[in-house]
Amino acid sequence: MKYMKKSFEGMVPYHSKLIEDGIILNANESPILPPDKVVKEIKEKIVNIDFNRYPDMDEVKLNKAISKKFGIKPENVSSGVGSDELLDVVFRATLEVGDNVVGFTPSFSMYKVFAELVGANYIPVLGDKNNIFNVDDMIEKIAEFNPKLVIICSPNNPTGQYFTEKEIRKIIESTNALIALDLAYIDFASKDYTTIALDYDNVISFRTFSKAMALPSIRVGYAISKKENIDMIDAIKAPYSVTTISQIAAEIAISNFDLYKGQIKMIVNEREKLYNALSKLGFNVFKSEANFIYVLMDDRFNQALLKEKIYIRNFKSGVYRITVGSPYENEKLLEVLKNEI
Ligand code: PMP
Repeated sequence: MKYMKKSFEGMVPYHSKLIEDGIILNANESPILPPDKVVKEIKEKIVNIDFNRYPDMDEVKLNKAISKKFGIKPENVSSGVGSDELLDVVFRATLEVGDNVVGFTPSFSMYKVFAELVGANYIPVLGDKNNIFNVDDMIEKIAEFNPKLVIICSPNNPTGQYFTEKEIRKIIESTNALIALDLAYIDFASKDYTTIALDYDNVISFRTFSKAMALPSIRVGYAISKKENIDMIDAIKAPYSVTTISQIAAEIAISNFDLYKGQIKMIVNEREKLYNALSKLGFNVFKSEANFIYVLMDDRFNQALLKEKIYIRNFKSGVYRITVGSPYENEKLLEVLKNEI
C-alpha cells in the first residue's frame, strides 16, 4: 500500500466473507427478521421515496421517533451509519495524537482501531484470570493514565459481561474524561440505562439497530447525550450519511419497539438454554447478558462445526464467540458439539 501514510503501516483491510448458506452464528445478528408489521410497513413506505433527492441531513423524523421511545428531546439524539460511524466520529472529534483512551480488553475490536487511526494510545484494562472485569481496576487505570476518552461496552462484546447502572455511575463519577458508553446489546440485558448519559456532561450512549432490532442491513446507529456533545458529533459527521431508506426503516422499527419484546425474550431464553447446555458439556463458558456466549474450547470442535456449515466467531486458537441462534440452530450446534466429545 505505497500511498498509505507511514503511521498506518501494517494496517490490513478487514474482510468478512458473506456467508449465504449454513447456520450463521458469527456476527451477533438476529436469527429472525424484524416483526411482520415492521417489515410490511418498511416495504410499503420505501416505494414512495423521492429517489432523486438527498436524504434528510438532520434525520428529523428518525431522531424524533428515537427520542419518543426514551422520553427525551430530539436535540439529545444523533443518528449515523451504524454506531460504527458515530464511534469513529467521537474518537476523531475528541482525540489528539498521543492522547490516551482507556477500555476493557478484550472488547469490541474497532475501539483500538479508531484510537490508533487518530494516533491515540489504547490502554487496556484486563480482567481477572476468568476474564471478569472489575470497575475499580478501570478507575485505577483512569487515575494513572489520565485519558481523554474512556470506553465501556455493556454488555461487553465478546465476553458478555454486563455492568450495573451503579458500576457505570461509579466510573463516570470518578473522572472528567468523556465516557463512551456502547450499549449495542443492552436490550438483551437486565436493565436499559441508555438515558444515564443525560445526567452528566461527559457521557455519550451509543445504540444500534443492528442487534435486537434485527436490522443490520440498514446500517443505522444513534448516540444519546447532552446537546453540546450531540452538536459536536453533528459538526463532524459526513452530511447525508444515513440514506432515506435507512431513516424510514429505522423510524418504523423504533416506533414499534414493543413488537420486538417477544423476539428479544426468545433470544434471552435461548441464551440461557445454550449456556446451560454448553456448561453441561464441560466447556468453559462465560455468563452473558448479550445475544452471544464467549466460550473456550478446543479447535477441533470448530472444525466439526465448519464441516456442517455452522459458523461461529474464532478470535484465536481456543477462543470463540457463539451468537445465540434460533431454537433449531442452537440444537444443531449442540448436536455437532456433543458428537465430537
Ligand atoms: N459496538 C459493538 C459492541 C458491536 O459489537 C458492534 C458491531 N458488532 C458495533 C458497535 C457496531 O455496530 P453497528 O455499526 O452495526 O451499529
